[in-house]
Amino acid sequence: MSKVYTLQLGKINMMSISDGAFPVSKQFFFANTPEEIIRDIPSHFDAPLNFLYIDTGDKRILVDVGFGQTLAEAGQLFLHLESQGIDPADIDTIIITHAHMDHIGGLSYDGSPAFPNAEYVIRKDEWDHWKSKPESNEFRKLKDIADHLTFITSDRELYPGIHLIHAPGHTVGHLSLHIQSEGKSLLVASDILNDPITLQHLPSYIRAEMSPRQGLETRKKFLQDAVDKKALVFACHYPFPGFGYVHKAKEKDRWKWSPIVTG
Ligand SMILES: [Zn+2]
Repeated sequence: MSKVYTLQLGKINMMSISDGAFPVSKQFFFANTPEEIIRDIPSHFDAPLNFLYIDTGDKRILVDVGFGQTLAEAGQLFLHLESQGIDPADIDTIIITHAHMDHIGGLSYDGSPAFPNAEYVIRKDEWDHWKSKPESNEFRKLKDIADHLTFITSDRELYPGIHLIHAPGHTVGHLSLHIQSEGKSLLVASDILNDPITLQHLPSYIRAEMSPRQGLETRKKFLQDAVDKKALVFACHYPFPGFGYVHKAKEKDRWKWSPIVTG
């Protein structure tokens, strides 16, 4: 089964690229989800890892980079890029939505930046948070690319049609993206959303969420925004390729996921 899915949004070409599998426990991934919703989920399972490659025609951008060498079951993003004829040296910009290892493990290899010509964009508060934990794996990884980082402190249009939006909760400096071209919109959730099943219980969070209260506010805002904009949504940990639409369900505060394709 192919683990690269191409999609065109107006004039922008994109690919969802699988990085492999992230073995997780049910307790970790569904920290507070009512048992009636997750009854059929096994105690351990593989969470999907989908990452977004964007080619604007002018810039080649990756939104997060997967586990890299830091997890044996993952790190396949690099192989899949190669299968598409994309060399890491071709990437202009890496957008770091947040600095959990499933999103940043591939930033460096043997202590050197894995994408040698890229500018790496991260929110300053995300960097500051991990800097205050200098012994963490996350900060050690970020340090490898420290000389290549661009910090942002407010929402901005990075390139025409590529907007970076502060979406705190999962982490303090978590970013979402709004990508627009020729009247079409895509919203990149990264880890605002974690599994389609939890759209039935929006307060659901994974154990690694820094502020579940703020995460809930961000999640509600993101979902409403997706409906208002009639936007396609891309979610990192949803089943491959992670593209779909969200809808309000008949029951109050419940939502539904309609994937545009099932993997
Ligand atoms: Zn994640």
